[in-house]
Amino acid sequence: MAKTQQTIAIYPGSFDPITLGHLNIIKRAAVLFDKLIVCVMVNSEKNGLFSYEDRAALIQRVIDGAGLTNVEVDCSTELLVAYAKRKKARALIKGLRAVSDYEKEAQMALINRKLNPKLDTLFLTSSEKYTYLSSTVVKEMAYYGADLRDFIPREIVDDVREKINSRRTN
Ligand code: ADP
Repeated sequence: MAKTQQTIAIYPGSFDPITLGHLNIIKRAAVLFDKLIVCVMVNSEKNGLFSYEDRAALIQRVIDGAGLTNVEVDCSTELLVAYAKRKKARALIKGLRAVSDYEKEAQMALINRKLNPKLDTLFLTSSEKYTYLSSTVVKEMAYYGADLRDFIPREIVDDVREKINSRRTN
């Protein structure tokens, strides 16, 4: 039988900036769905290094570099379930690094499913290479001048270094 509707998933996050851990999850989720939307969620809590637009532009460059043709990049100020509904998404993708991620993420998944019972959350466990990795660690490493190539995609290394340096001199 012909498939009538595309299966769409959303991978939401702060991505300040995108790391190799995020990219690993993106690549794995992209093969499971017809379309994956990586969405930078505008969140008043986090004081960011990059603007939301810049984060999305960096992700786009990495996606293009990786040749991931079924991955889109977006930015949203909406409630995640409302955004997912508008995009006709079937699932949310979350990466789990450690048991400590699980508690918060499981609670969010339950809330989101209550708000929209048709939307499921799929957890992908982090590749063991990247379980220690977070955007916060990357910013810390960049601040101390560490080599960033083991942490973030090469296409964005210079941008992160320059941004950290400009913060330092301002
Ligand atoms: P952080 O600022 O902690 O890096 P984000 O909000 O940008 O986190 O993360 C977005 C999503 O990516 C979350 O589901 C998070 O659990 C997941 N994630 C973050 N880093 C990794 C990693 N190294 N491996 C797997 N998943 C990750």
